[in-house]
Amino acid sequence: MPPTLLSPPATSEEIADYTPMTQVTLPPLKNSGLAPLIGKTQAELVDLFIEMGHPRFRAEQVHHWLYVKCVQSFDEMLNLSKGFRQHLAERFQIGTLQIASKQISEDGTVKYLFQCADGNVIESVLMYFEERGSYALCVSTQVGCAINCSFCATGKMGLKRHLSASEIVEQYVQVQADSGKEIRNVVYMGQGEPLHNYENTVKSLRILNESCEVGMRRITVSTSGLVDHIDKLAEEEMPLTLALSLHAPNNEIRSRIMPINKRWPLETLIPSLERYLASTNRRLTMEYIMIDGINDQPEHAHQLGQLIQHLKCNINLIPYNPIAKDLPRAVDYKRSSNQAIRTFMMILLDRYHKKVTVRLERGVDIDAACGQLANRFQADKEVLPV
Ligand code: SF4
Repeated sequence: MPPTLLSPPATSEEIADYTPMTQVTLPPLKNSGLAPLIGKTQAELVDLFIEMGHPRFRAEQVHHWLYVKCVQSFDEMLNLSKGFRQHLAERFQIGTLQIASKQISEDGTVKYLFQCADGNVIESVLMYFEERGSYALCVSTQVGCAINCSFCATGKMGLKRHLSASEIVEQYVQVQADSGKEIRNVVYMGQGEPLHNYENTVKSLRILNESCEVGMRRITVSTSGLVDHIDKLAEEEMPLTLALSLHAPNNEIRSRIMPINKRWPLETLIPSLERYLASTNRRLTMEYIMIDGINDQPEHAHQLGQLIQHLKCNINLIPYNPIAKDLPRAVDYKRSSNQAIRTFMMILLDRYHKKVTVRLERGVDIDAACGQLANRFQADKEVLPV
């Protein structure tokens, strides 16, 4: 069954806070050049503090303030002396991201636009799941993305750079602090291909789990199918959920809408998923975007069912969220009809006995399709070659 409707957690005052994009201006750059403490593991903080001549327990206190209390300044670390707080503030900064804007959808989804110290912008999305009574945060792992999926606003930006582990974790810490909500689930489905930024993604996962106390089973990492990194992730002993952005039932369609399929076609991708499942004993999520007339026909549902029937996986159908027409290089795809989605789902359920959900559309009034908000600020900036 598809999940039930998501309840808006936002108050009417918060919704009234909605900032039209035309009124958003980026704040002045804040770049002290000091090293951020967010992004360091507890062991790294202990080593750093001992090196500076401070006892281990000081590092543990700071670790607690950073990741559990999510404070935004050293002055809030109340069990440290004023002198020591000043000493820290002269050498370090908490983090490097600034909230540049916050958009609140009528459905309660909150989209944060962060400005990095170098002026690049990234986005994170806070969602409330009524069924579970919990909040989930979608984080970005790169500025832009090299994968260039034809249906994705971020793919249109190209890759500008990887985010550091600090910048990935800080999205969680800042949204937790700003919203005051207890965020129990984190999904790596924002801008970027998490496994392309492998080392920083894995380090951030460990910090979220060990320092921020987000259960590894409550973390989902999506990938477009980088086979070599899926194999590597299988060895990390992290019981997270891997979400494979499949989006097509055969190589012909997949290569057309996801160029990465030419590098890692289904003949190599599916065996890598088999190895991942064998080694982790977890269940995969297959993400499948529903695009009118492209991949949403009944024969596609049968091809998909046959392709993945043997895999321990759920299927998540995602109605295509059109890229705003005024964005650079927007593609003219349309969302599948409700009838097409229903027929597709019923084939997978009845004939192939797969568990199928339909993802609810979130924040369509606030540019919530992946990368749309940040894309507006990146359009005139230099893009790295892929
Ligand atoms: S869908 Fe994901 S992998 Fe594809 S271009 Fe967008 S951000 Fe990159």
